[in-house]
Amino acid sequence: MFDRTMAELLTFVMGDVFGVVTLVVGIAIGFWLGKLWAQYVRPPKVSEPNAPQDEPANYQQQLAGMIQFTTHFTGDLSKHIELLENLEQKLAQPEDDASVVDDGPSAKAVELIAQITAANQKLKQRLESAEATLKTQSRELEETLSEARTDVLTQLLNRRAFEEERERRWALWQRKQQPFSLMILDIDHFKRVNDTYGHDAGDLVLKEVASRLSSVMRKTDYLARIGGEELAILIPEADCPSVTTVAKKVLNIVRSLPVQYGETKIAVTVSCGLMPADHADGIESLTKGADEALYAAKSAGRNCGFLNNGETLIPIESHTAMPAQPSETPAADQPPSPENKPEPPVRTQASELDSAASELKNRLFQISQSILP
Ligand code: GH3
Ligand code: MG
Ligand code: MG
Repeated sequence: MFDRTMAELLTFVMGDVFGVVTLVVGIAIGFWLGKLWAQYVRPPKVSEPNAPQDEPANYQQQLAGMIQFTTHFTGDLSKHIELLENLEQKLAQPEDDASVVDDGPSAKAVELIAQITAANQKLKQRLESAEATLKTQSRELEETLSEARTDVLTQLLNRRAFEEERERRWALWQRKQQPFSLMILDIDHFKRVNDTYGHDAGDLVLKEVASRLSSVMRKTDYLARIGGEELAILIPEADCPSVTTVAKKVLNIVRSLPVQYGETKIAVTVSCGLMPADHADGIESLTKGADEALYAAKSAGRNCGFLNNGETLIPIESHTAMPAQPSETPAADQPPSPENKPEPPVRTQASELDSAASELKNRLFQISQSILP
C-alpha cells in the first residue's frame, strides 16, 4: 500500500518539477532583462551633450518590480517544498492501525495525498499567474527600452542608438574590414519652413522626410535622427559608385515632391555629406569628414551632396558647383550646428557666381514645386 502511495506522491511531486521549471524560466527572463538594462539603459556619456536625457529611473523601477515579484514567488516555492517534506515525513511514519495495511490506502495516506494535491494546484495557479505577469512586465520593459532608442517625432532611431551603431560598425571595420560609410543630411532652410508655415508644418516636413528616406533605405542601412533637422545614415558599403548612388536616391526622394500641409505645398530639399570609413583615421575624423562634405554642399547652394575621400570633396551630382576646400570648413571643435554655424568661406568671384547660380536654380526649383497643381 505504501509503495503505491509513494508512487502516487512521486507523480504529484513531478507535477511540481514542471512548476519549478516554469518559475525558473520566469526568473531567467528577469535576468535577461537585467542584462538588457545594463547594455542599453545607461546615463549618456559626458561627451555627448546632445544625447537625449532619458530617465533611467523608470527602467530601474520596472526592474525592481520584477525582481520583487520573482523573489516573492521563490519564497512561495520554498514554503511549498517545506510542506511537501513534512507530508512525506508523516507518510513515512508507520500506521497505528495495522488492520488497514492490505486494504488499499489508509485514511491518513488519502488525506495526505489530498493535501498534496491541493497544495500543488494552488502553487500551479500561482506560478501560472506569475508567468503571465512576468511576460507582461517583460513586454512593457522591452517597449520602454525601445522607446529609449527611438525619436518620438519621426519614429526613427535616435542619436544614442546611432552613436552606438556607429561605434559597432567602426569596430567591425577595424577588426574584420567590414566597410561602411557615414552620410549626414540636413534639411535646407528649415528655419524658413517654421517661420513661414509654423512649427507644426516644420514637424510634418521632418516626419515626411524621415518616412521618404525610410522608404528608399535597405534593411542593412541604418537611418537615425541625430539632431533637430539633421539625420544620418550608416551604409554598409564604401566604394564610391555605390554610396554615390545611395546619396542620389536620398536627394531625389526628398526633392521629388513637395510636402502637402493642408492646402499648402511645401518644397523641401536636403543637403548631404558622405564619407567612407576607409578614408578616416577614427570615428571622430569620419564624422568630421562627413560634416565637411555637408558644409561643402551647403556652400555650393544646398539641395546637393558631396563625398569626402579624405583628400578632396567630390560633388555627388556632376552639375553641382565645387565648393570651398575642406581647409576653409569649420574647425574640428566647432562643427556646424544651429548655434555656431560658421560664416561661409571667402570665395573667388567665379565660385561666387557658381554658387549664386546654383542657389538661383534651387530657388526656381522650389518655386516650381510649390506652384505645381
Ligand atoms: P540650413 O539650410 O543652413 O541648414 O538652414 P536651416 O534653416 O535649415 O538651419 P538652421 O540651423 O538655421 O535652423 C534649423 C531650425 O530647425 C531651427 C530650429 O528651430 C528647427 N528645428 C529643430 N528641431 C525641430 C523640430 O523638432 N521641429 C521643428 N518644427 N523645428 C525644429
Ligand atoms: Mg542643421
Ligand atoms: Mg538645415
